[in-house]
Amino acid sequence: MSPTVKNVVMLVVIVGALVAAGFFFFTRGKKETTYPKTGFETQWICEKCGKHYELSPAQYKEWLDSPDRRRRDPNYPANLVVFWCDDCKTFSVVRARIDASGNWVITQDSEGRRIQTEAAQPTGRKGAAGPKKSESENPEQK
Ligand SMILES: [Zn+2]
Repeated sequence: MSPTVKNVVMLVVIVGALVAAGFFFFTRGKKETTYPKTGFETQWICEKCGKHYELSPAQYKEWLDSPDRRRRDPNYPANLVVFWCDDCKTFSVVRARIDASGNWVITQDSEGRRIQTEAAQPTGRKGAAGPKKSESENPEQK
């Protein structure tokens, strides 16, 4: 092996090591910033006192991993996330969503029971559908 070839091989090895180091550094750095501290907040409500909690992804992850913040009970489904309420001193904070009027509503309580919202009830929809149909017929007559 000539000295020139040796140098080229050495250079390739060094560059390769640098690229690998850079790659590992980059992916590790990326992992740490997976959960942003602002934006993409999720809404949570205490079903007992109605207190609103808005969690950033970073805070959600922190609560999720904390044994004091998240209820861990084998009697409930694993995907049912219930958090601790500071005011009630119980696990009663459940996922909420914002409805069309901007109100925070619970769709599932801490027991995992589905909660029927007004919009989801068939009786409410039937009444609203009546006048809407006649309204849509008017433009066709013009
Ligand atoms: Zn509460």
